[in-house]
Amino acid sequence: MRDQLTLDQIQSFQGKYPKQLWYLFLIEMWERFCFYGMRGMLTVFMVSQLMMKEDVANLQYGATQAFVYAFTFIGGLFADKILGFRKSLVWGGLLMITGSCILAFDPGTFFFVGLSFTIIGTGFFKPNISTMVGSLYKDGDVRRDAGFSLFYSGINIGALLGGYICITVAKNYSWNLAFGFAAIVMTISLITFLLTKKYFGPIGLSPLRETKTPAKRKWYEWSVYLGSLIVIPFIMIMVAKTEYTDYFMYTIGPCTLLYLIYEMTKCNAIQVKKLMAALVFIFFSILFWAFFEQSGGSLSLFAANNLEHDLLGMKLDPNGVNNSSNSLFVIIFAPLIGLLWIWLSKRKLEPNTVVKFGLGFLFLSLAFYVFYSTRFFANAEGMTSLDVFTLAYLVITFGELCLSPIGLSIMTKLSPLKLQGVMMGMWFLASAYGQYVAGILGAGMTSPIENASLTDKLLSYTEGYKELALYALIAGLVLLIISPKVKKLMQEVH
Ligand code: GLN
Repeated sequence: MRDQLTLDQIQSFQGKYPKQLWYLFLIEMWERFCFYGMRGMLTVFMVSQLMMKEDVANLQYGATQAFVYAFTFIGGLFADKILGFRKSLVWGGLLMITGSCILAFDPGTFFFVGLSFTIIGTGFFKPNISTMVGSLYKDGDVRRDAGFSLFYSGINIGALLGGYICITVAKNYSWNLAFGFAAIVMTISLITFLLTKKYFGPIGLSPLRETKTPAKRKWYEWSVYLGSLIVIPFIMIMVAKTEYTDYFMYTIGPCTLLYLIYEMTKCNAIQVKKLMAALVFIFFSILFWAFFEQSGGSLSLFAANNLEHDLLGMKLDPNGVNNSSNSLFVIIFAPLIGLLWIWLSKRKLEPNTVVKFGLGFLFLSLAFYVFYSTRFFANAEGMTSLDVFTLAYLVITFGELCLSPIGLSIMTKLSPLKLQGVMMGMWFLASAYGQYVAGILGAGMTSPIENASLTDKLLSYTEGYKELALYALIAGLVLLIISPKVKKLMQEVH
């Protein structure tokens, strides 16, 4: 402990990236492997092994995703107030490993138990590792966005590998083994953190270190651990009955907003303005994810029904392409975009975050116009081009890169230190709402015709995509129009 690095030593790193970023990159990569591995198995498992109907499985899937992201708010809150980021990460990792082990043991019997452990675990893990990335940078360090872009590549390497490998193991060998695989990978993530945490100096230590005696601190910490175990049965009930998800979603958003307003009353005027700017970003991100997350719902059904199996002359499964092309494009382009921002900022040409968000929506809009345009490449049976579909994923990826890593970064810039975890949690809570709304939008796009032909389905989905494209365009323009006002709220942050 004696020669622990100081915050200043960490933040005064030379070069493009601090070395600790590479550790967080690896830790998050393995965690996302576990998370997206599970995510990729859930619906298939529910339909093929638990014999659920497809619509029920879809709703259940939506509920799980909404809960996962909603609990990041709670994870962020407890990290800020009691545990600190490090203990939250370890606790979240342990819960995720336990959840995967339960599923590996007997997924049929203990499905919802295992899932609930994973939901809570992700809540403690996901927002806090992202906040730790932000802590590696001084205020105003122009390398921060590039750091988040690199971190985002790690997320997507994990997502690509986990999403592909787990479902393949499950289909070809056994479900137990596939869930077990997620447990092993999550263990690697946790061990990587435990081995590298000494390089993080004071980052992520308990916020109670200064104000409470060690005995009191332990008491608070154990209450959080115990409390999170006690809520598991309640989560099981809420995920299993999707109407409870509705009630949950109606309540959690307003409650968190009220809580934030309460916290704002303790902040000074400048901090309040910055938090208000953060809320604008959070609001628009709900909209973004609601459209973007069609990928897990309506776009995967579209891929299963209406797409040819030919990508640039290669025979490929359209659902595989739907699940992995976005991650692949992120891996390729995130570092390049990160470097582009640095290059532009050196020339004083870098767009500010509001404009980047606006661009994100314009790309999103263009991507949905490309999804819409697949109808013009369809044959008489309603089958259309996988090439055009994949092109849309390329475009949507640019939109994601203008918004998602930048959003993580801006949350860390706009929040006062004591609210960093909560604000990151709110950012992910917006994803929870996005997932929730995405399901509703997707359901609304299905063809109303009974026994709809593939052509009917194609027309119905693409019509929906055209509408989303228009809304995304409007959102992008609104953001560009209000950008001077939001910029003012952001003060010196950009
Ligand atoms: N794909 C990113 C991740 O898994 C962002 C997800 C989100 O915020 N909805 O971290």
